[in-house]
Amino acid sequence: MADNKHKKPHAIIIPYPLQGHVNPAVHLALKLASQGFTITFVHTDSIHYHTSKAHPNTGLELFAKVPESGLDIRYTTISDGLPVGFDRSLNHDQFCAALLHVFSAHAEEKVAEIVASGEDVHCLIADTFFVWPSKVAKKFGLVHVSFWTEPALVFTLYYHMDLLRLNGHFDCPDRREDAVNYIPGVKTIQPKDLVSYLQETDATSVCHQIHKNCFNDTKNSDFVLCNTVQELESDTISALQAKIQFYAIGPIFPNDFCTTVVATSLWSESPCTQWLDKQPIGSVLYVSFGSYAHVTEKDLLEIANGISLSKVNFVLVLRPDIVSSEDADPLPVGFKEEVADRGIVIPWCRQKEVLAHPAIGGFLTHCGWNSILESVWCQIPLLCFPLYTDQFTNRKLVVDDWKIGINLSDKKVITKEEVSYNINRLMYGESEDEIKNRIKELKKTLEDAVSPSGSSEQNLSQFIKKLMAKI
Ligand code: UDP
Repeated sequence: MADNKHKKPHAIIIPYPLQGHVNPAVHLALKLASQGFTITFVHTDSIHYHTSKAHPNTGLELFAKVPESGLDIRYTTISDGLPVGFDRSLNHDQFCAALLHVFSAHAEEKVAEIVASGEDVHCLIADTFFVWPSKVAKKFGLVHVSFWTEPALVFTLYYHMDLLRLNGHFDCPDRREDAVNYIPGVKTIQPKDLVSYLQETDATSVCHQIHKNCFNDTKNSDFVLCNTVQELESDTISALQAKIQFYAIGPIFPNDFCTTVVATSLWSESPCTQWLDKQPIGSVLYVSFGSYAHVTEKDLLEIANGISLSKVNFVLVLRPDIVSSEDADPLPVGFKEEVADRGIVIPWCRQKEVLAHPAIGGFLTHCGWNSILESVWCQIPLLCFPLYTDQFTNRKLVVDDWKIGINLSDKKVITKEEVSYNINRLMYGESEDEIKNRIKELKKTLEDAVSPSGSSEQNLSQFIKKLMAKI
């Protein structure tokens, strides 16, 4: 083994260019840099454009202040093959096609450029959803670290998609409707709780090509780092560890949960703390559907009318493109006037700051994984309304396994009465105390994991030790 005791590891980090992937990747970069790594962080031009536009002249633009902190992080960008202003969420298939066919070449060129600059680069940390990293890492003699930003349960479902296909639960015309009970480390999961892509009967779309190719690529990686906690998903993680070098190192938050040292938001954040300061403790429902998913106009009307009926105070985050059409106001006529004394509607906020505010008592969420981890950290019970991809599987963890939240609806068609009923159940219902106690325990699990002797910190140290032995 080479003498690497004094070697300064240098990693290139390339996140998937979506908000929910960028956030943990930025904090992973900061974490590794604080452990002595040199980091070259690569964003797409589009992410750079949006984050810069959202935080003009604040000094918080991506990594602008990092040199002051003494951390060794360099920052560069590449094109994902689409114009920066192109709406990727409204043109999802085109975006996936660009990532599949064009982005790979740009990423490879960038890695070649960094390596050719004379830098001693050792490893490539790239999002698991990319289809090219292990080939590129091999070509340039780098250790390949696959970075997974969703729960281990979701990882293992994708990892075993061939098993799901073979057993008739995926990618066949007459899908089985009984429970899946043959995935290693997963006792049982209902077909409705699989990742939405794995619920489909035809897997020929460009997104399916990405999933198939990226997991084939990941099987060749040297390490997988996952933004989860060992104790939360121990069976699933143990089963994965029998096959790959899988490390649970989450939750990957900044040291001080609410502090922004690097602005990662793709949209500017509307202030709402002043309004929250005036609300009673635990009285406000926070409502957000994340950065990418869309809600149907019909569902959004029922949700808005349900909020109105429920009489609770609320912060409603509605991205301008939430129902797929930027022009129309998706809210019911007169909604804003009717609820003006007890709620605010904003396009985007600083979510961590909102969740950490004492006025917040519940979170109506689309079940994005970052949102769930952030909510648990702030001990805010969840009202679950999954929309697509991993959100269905995340809902199962929250409601069925950990019992820290309830479903917004148990039916396919949601109604304002049910929305209102479940909002009140979450905020003031009989089981509210049980949920609060369980979420308190879960928060403790997260906190313990990132304490110096906790599992995530220990796993990170183990990973670094093994990485150093390879470089
Ligand atoms: N977020 C935010 N402001 C908002 C809504 C979301 O800062 O108004 C952040 C949130 O804190 C989280 C991320 O955006 O870190 C969304 O990631 P998640 O995995 O929850 O959902 P996705 O957007 O990937 O569907």
